[in-house]
Amino acid sequence: MKQMSLKIKLTLLYTFFMILVTCAALGILLSLSSREILSATQTKLEKRVQASADYLKLADGELEIDSEFYTVSQDIYLSLYDENLYFLYGKIPYGFNALPQIEDGRTRTIRDGDIDWYVYDMSFRLAENYTVYIRGVTSLTDAEEGYMVTTRFALILLPVLIVLTAVIGYRFTRRTLLPVKEITRTVREIRADADLSRRVGLHTGHRQDEISELAATFDEMLGELDQVFQREKQFTSDVSHELRTPISVILAQCGTCLEMDDLTEEQRKQIRVIEKKAKEMAAMTAQLLFLSRADQGRQPWNPERLNLSELTQVAVEEQQFLAKEQGRRTEIVCRCQPDIYAEVDETLYLRLLENLISNAVYYGKEDGRVEIFLESDGRRVRGRVTDDGIGIAPENLERIWERFYRADTSRTGEGHSGLGLSVVRWIVRTHGGEIYVKSRLGEGSTFIFEIPVKNEKK
Ligand code: ADP
Repeated sequence: MKQMSLKIKLTLLYTFFMILVTCAALGILLSLSSREILSATQTKLEKRVQASADYLKLADGELEIDSEFYTVSQDIYLSLYDENLYFLYGKIPYGFNALPQIEDGRTRTIRDGDIDWYVYDMSFRLAENYTVYIRGVTSLTDAEEGYMVTTRFALILLPVLIVLTAVIGYRFTRRTLLPVKEITRTVREIRADADLSRRVGLHTGHRQDEISELAATFDEMLGELDQVFQREKQFTSDVSHELRTPISVILAQCGTCLEMDDLTEEQRKQIRVIEKKAKEMAAMTAQLLFLSRADQGRQPWNPERLNLSELTQVAVEEQQFLAKEQGRRTEIVCRCQPDIYAEVDETLYLRLLENLISNAVYYGKEDGRVEIFLESDGRRVRGRVTDDGIGIAPENLERIWERFYRADTSRTGEGHSGLGLSVVRWIVRTHGGEIYVKSRLGEGSTFIFEIPVKNEKK
């Protein structure tokens, strides 16, 4: 199951507690108000009955009743009975048909039909031998009606409150966690572009909380990392630069020595080995210098509209010549759509092909075949360099672009130090394109690059 996001988890937590608190509060409130309503109704009934005694008078042995006795006030009906429970005067509510026994001074609940009634009887002595009973009746159901309204209101309010809590909780959590999202986005961008100069930059505003502190710490760490990397790049650049002069001197000296006539064959052989290794070192430092300049954004490149078909043909011929010089019988074939024009840096484009073709020859069969295709749909140029050589194992396909990574460590030297494809990828990406590889171990490889005809990165 997909992991629940922190936002959802926190929202559920708020909502759960809100439900708990609201239910508890409503439960207490409703039970209190129910009791309150019932006891208030009871008190009202008793007071009204007690007060109604004032409406009764005995004048010349005759019972006189004030009209107030007949008035139904506060939903209370009053009626008068003699000692034998014979109805004398008053009003009985509709629906109350029961005729309960008199129970002097005690409120009772009587159910008649669907309605609950409160009945309160009170004896009242009008004269020595003349006692009457005043009965007050009120509908308990009517009193409860008000309570029911409160309950219904509470039941509607409860889901509204829950939804409101969930919505507000979610929005609040989202707002609070937004900086975390921002941090994640920055990290992803840094990973994608390998650009350590980016910062989260959340601590600069008014925000002063734990998350802005985290962002500040993160930015500090990025700053330090950036400095370390800058120093490292500078170091690589300086070293490569500094090595160029001694290597040139070694090469020049080797050349001078080889011109001497009094050298033995053994000495000549040894000087040639030194010269070969110095040339490999020169190639490697050139690649390193190129990459460190590229990292520092100092590698110059000037795209111009060029005929790539012709340029590719030139590169192919040059590589064919070099292969022959190295004693290889590889056949290099150029299958280019004619007159493909695109905006590229000439030197960089030649370098890209040089690396790809020299790899295809080097990792190809001794008498293998290398094919270079070039085509364009008018928007993008698509190039392919295919060989029928050793191929690359699937687990190495991702890593061959890393610096100094060599999939086949048995083949070392001869200028192959594991930097070529890093250079190639930088060139393609700088031109706004992409490069990828298809390969089968033991069958061969195809490197495919695509670059836009018009350069937008200029
Ligand atoms: P290198 O200078 O060692 O050739 P690259 O960066 O050009 O370095 O290539 C990295 C690794 O990718 C090589 O060491 C090799 O293992 C593998 N590789 C590159 N091109 C080919 C190819 N055409 N066929 C097989 N393996 C290749």
